Amino acid sequence: MSGKFLKVRCKKCGNEQIIFSRASTNVKCLVCGNELLEPTGGKAKIKTTVLKPLE
Ligand SMILES: [Zn+2]
Repeated sequence: MSGKFLKVRCKKCGNEQIIFSRASTNVKCLVCGNELLEPTGGKAKIKTTVLKPLE
């Protein structure tokens, strides 16, 4: 299983959060509830600003 953890910033409120790039469920901002990632059956679509991948 491959996939990366990404540090992202919420476009709405600026909250920084770690998300998994292959999450199988919607990931929302913990602060404002804005959708950060949408699963699309295989490759998830990231809907916010990616700051950097985490190794
Ligand atoms: Zn937010």
